[in-house]
Amino acid sequence: MSDGTDTGMMPPWRATVLTLYPEMFPGPLGLSLSGDALARGAWSLEARNIREHGLGRHRNVDDTPAGGGAGMVLRCDVLGSAIDAAAPADDSRPRLLMSPRGKPLSQARVRALAEGPGAVIVCGRFEGVDERVIEGRGLEEVSIGDYVLSGGEIAALVLIDACVRLLPGVMGKHESGVEESFEDGLLEYPHYTRPRDWEGRAIPDVLMGGNHGQIARWRAERSRALTRTRRPDLLRDGNG
Ligand code: SAH
Repeated sequence: MSDGTDTGMMPPWRATVLTLYPEMFPGPLGLSLSGDALARGAWSLEARNIREHGLGRHRNVDDTPAGGGAGMVLRCDVLGSAIDAAAPADDSRPRLLMSPRGKPLSQARVRALAEGPGAVIVCGRFEGVDERVIEGRGLEEVSIGDYVLSGGEIAALVLIDACVRLLPGVMGKHESGVEESFEDGLLEYPHYTRPRDWEGRAIPDVLMGGNHGQIARWRAERSRALTRTRRPDLLRDGNG
């Protein structure tokens, strides 16, 4: 379409990150596919320093945990005003808190986020954030896996990277978004490229034969076999 009704008219996907380390952004997202798309304006990124809403001369953002214990907790009043300044009540973007307690990030959630207007992403530090700001600002906790990072920034970079590569026009070929691991609930089949023989290992004959039906069947079979051995949990969830 050339009448301006295509996706070219959609406002770009917008990420706002609340962090104590805005220098970490765009970081690796400023390079390669995501970096080119950022430069082209296919998406936008704003990293805002939570400390701007810190209290007093020292712009304090944290305090000791109620009830005692190690470490420090990000204050709900400070984080609340940082969120309000970054995303007014009429901002329709989902508000996420990177958190090891969150629902594990999935390709389905990534796809849904990429189809929306963007995201407001809060990065925790220290022991985490005061529970009341999670409730009071309706933050959705998102985990990138069952391990503990020192802060939410790298987790936010992971989430944004996964979303941005799905935006229209960001990946070279449209198909490369569809056939990948997890998109159909299975792991992807193995890839090969030149040379045909390497250290006594040949590319499987079927891939060199030019029979597209056979190739598709071989790939589907490899996909299922790999998933069965490596990730049987994915099959139990109803695929293959
Ligand atoms: N005390 C917390 C861990 C805090 S780690 C706990 O035991 O649950 C400090 C910050 O790093 C968190 O607030 C969160 O923003 C981020 N973080 C750590 N691990 C993460 C993970 N697996 N996924 C997403 N964010 C994570």
